[in-house]
This record gives sequence, C-alpha cells and structure tokens, in this order.
Amino acid sequence: MTLDLPKTTDDILTRDVHLVQSWADLNSLKQNGATTAIVEAEGSYVTDSQGNRLIDGIGGLWCVNVGHKRAEIIDAITEQLNTLDFYSTFYSFTHPSAAALATKLAELAPGNLNKVHFGNSGSVANETAVRVLHHYYKRLGQPSKRKILSRHGAYHGSTHLAVAMTTPHYSDGWHKAEGIVHHMRKPHYWREGDGMSEAEFTDALLADMKADIESIGAENIACFIGEPIMGAGGVIVPPAGYHKRAAELCAEYEIKVVSDEVVTAFGRLGYFFASKDVFDFQPDIITTAKGLTSGYQPLSATIMSDEIHEVISGPGGVFLHGMTYSGHPAAAAAGLANIALMEREQIPQTVRSTGKHFEATLKGLDDLDIVGEVRGSHFMIGIEFVKDKETKEIFDPALNIGLRVARKAQERGLIARPLGHILILSPTLILTPEQIDTIGAILRESILDVMKEL
Ligand code: PMP
Repeated sequence: MTLDLPKTTDDILTRDVHLVQSWADLNSLKQNGATTAIVEAEGSYVTDSQGNRLIDGIGGLWCVNVGHKRAEIIDAITEQLNTLDFYSTFYSFTHPSAAALATKLAELAPGNLNKVHFGNSGSVANETAVRVLHHYYKRLGQPSKRKILSRHGAYHGSTHLAVAMTTPHYSDGWHKAEGIVHHMRKPHYWREGDGMSEAEFTDALLADMKADIESIGAENIACFIGEPIMGAGGVIVPPAGYHKRAAELCAEYEIKVVSDEVVTAFGRLGYFFASKDVFDFQPDIITTAKGLTSGYQPLSATIMSDEIHEVISGPGGVFLHGMTYSGHPAAAAAGLANIALMEREQIPQTVRSTGKHFEATLKGLDDLDIVGEVRGSHFMIGIEFVKDKETKEIFDPALNIGLRVARKAQERGLIARPLGHILILSPTLILTPEQIDTIGAILRESILDVMKEL
C-alpha cells in the first residue's frame, strides 16, 4: 500500500497544523508553523523537505545510536511483524522476542539486575521503577517508604510522576505528583563549586544528601533516582566518586538506587551500561530506552535486581502494572537486532576512541569568548554560553543564544539542540573522525557568526 503522504514543504505544513508538537512553543508554531520537516535519513545524515542534507548532531533525540536506515534492524522488525505482529505480555502470556530481549538485557546489565519489565518510553520506565519499589516496600511491611530523592537539573520524563522527579523549572505552572519528590543539589562543579576543590564539592553534596535523608527519614524514602550524566539538564557530569558514594550512602539507609540510563546506555559513553562500567556503582534498578532500539521502535526497559523481583513475586497478590505494548514483538525484535549490530560492529568499543575524539574536538571550542564551559563525555556534550567568562554571567534569555547558534549550524548543515543558553550534541555513535572534525568546524563558525551579531 502506498500511503498518501504530503511531499512538498507546503503540503507538510498544511497538514502539520493538526499536530501538537512536544516541548514546543505552541503559540509560535500556530503563528509561524514548523521550521523543519525531516523526510529521510541514512547513516549520520537526515534530509529535510527542502532537500538539505544535514548531519544529525542529536541522533534523532539522543537515540539513533547505530545510525539511520540500518537494514538489519528494519529487516528484523519486518520479519517479526510477518510472523507475529502483536501479542501482549499480560497475565501468563509471553512470546519469543520479548523473552529473548529480556534474557539479553539480563546478560548485559551489571550484577544481579536480571529481571526486565518493558514499557514504551523513558518516562514509563521511570514510573515503573517507582511503582515497583512502592509495591516492594509495601510487601516488606514498610508502606511509608514512598518518597523519592531526585536532583535539581534532572530529567526523568514528562508523565505526571516522571515530571515531578524532573527538575522543577520544567513543570513551572503545571500540575504534577505533589509531595512525593525531594530535589537535592545539582552536582555541577563548574557552576556550584563555590571555590571548593572538586573533592570538597563531592563531600559537600554527600553531606547534604545525608542531611536530607536524616530530615525526611529513611523510613519514608523509597529511592534515589539519578542519571549517571544529567542530559536535558545541560549535560552535567558529577564530580569524581559522587555516584559510588551516593549509592553507598543509600545502601546504609536502605534506600534503593535507580539509575536512569535512558540516554547513557547502549554505547553513548563507550559501554552498554554506564553505571558500573563508567561510574563504578551498582544500582538496584536501571531504566533505559532510546538507544535500546536506536529509536527504530519505541521501547523502554526497567531492569530490576533479583532481590527486588523475589519480593514482588512472593506468594499472594498480582503485579498490578503494565502497558498494552509492554514488550511489543516488533519493538523487542528491534532491540535484539540493534544490540546484535552493536556487538558485531563493536560500537561501544569504537566509541571509546571516536567518542573521545568528539569530546576533545568540542572541548577545543572553549577558547571562544562566549563559550563558558564545554562539558560531557564521549558522544554526550553540552556547550554553555556566557556573556562573561570570568563571572560566568549568562546572556539575557531573550537573546536566545542557544537557538541562534543552532540556527547558524543548521544553515551550515548540522542539527544541534538548543536548550536556553546551552547547546547539546548527542550524535549517532558511528561518526567518522572526518565527520567529527566537520562538526567541530561548523560549530566554531556558527558561534563566531553569533558573536559578530552580538
Ligand atoms: N530519562 C532521561 C534521562 C531522558 O533523557 C528522557 C528523555 N529525553 C527520559 C527519561 C524520558 O524518556 P521519554 O521521552 O522516552 O519518555
């Protein structure tokens, strides 16, 4: 069947008036329409409706890890749909691809994380983690252990609870799950270090965390949720030792650790999972999505420890949780093919060198007058623009500095993601050194362009 899809930019924009975009200025869209229609993609490039070929510097949305249009994944999805288009994993049903992917994730996830519940977004994976832990503590006779420790700067999704766990300014004026989440300090040394050494800053963060736990009462806290590197909060790499010590503190107080690896998993930092291999801590639950299928299908996973599963699978009662599409056969097939491809091409291993080249290339932009900090690791980088390098004062938000640099970059053939005064890069993991150098050059020219305008 050939679908009746709009082809020209005008046709697309005519039909786009019925689409409600996400995280967008809807008023501006109503007045001006969408700015870019992406119509095709291959490898590390996308093509817009005007025929411009652009480097996909944000990997779709931190997700197209193995690159676009990989035949192996598309074939696996098609084959799965031809065999079994859909069946659920409700009640006592299962099917081959969900069972196989759960097994594969148990093999890849660190330590005793051997049990997997599937969802279809990172938000849902995080909601599932919290629901599982509430259920776990209730079964242990500790129903008061409900509260969640999160951080300013965190991003955990945009469903009701997930957005409550997200940094507060992302839900300004919106309702969210109230009274259940406590936000701790953002672990951002460059902004918040206040003349301390990095080690002193880590000590201060941990002391604050301990004080917070004491004042809320560990008997009221279910978990600490954290991204190994904060993504949408501006790509914040915590100071050395922070995660390991936070996990140790949580263990002391019997608080579970949920590591939100929606972005950091599946090769982005050079390993399938970053918690243990990069940051040396063992979570009780890992949540992931995005790179799990490289975005070819919507799929997320909440990977829990045997110990948690043992409690929630004890006698009596039903696990009252799950989505129709939990473990969708086509999504699970995409996940299996994606992981097989990553293993065959040794993508995580390659990222340990190409990702370092990417990081060094972008960090080299910090000689520019308006670049305050370039931070992040491997293929997860944030560039923070400042008006004054000494005082770290930011530009007037009305100047839209990130957006302006992103627009210049797009004119030069690169998609980057503006977030206020920060620009984020999270490309595919298959970039060649030459493509990485091109990205560096485009960003330099684009920043220089904006500097001239200011
Ligand atoms: N956690 C993190 C760390 C994320 O970056 C995101 C999305 N960017 C989410 C959760 C939410 O995922 P989704 O948009 O698939 O619900």
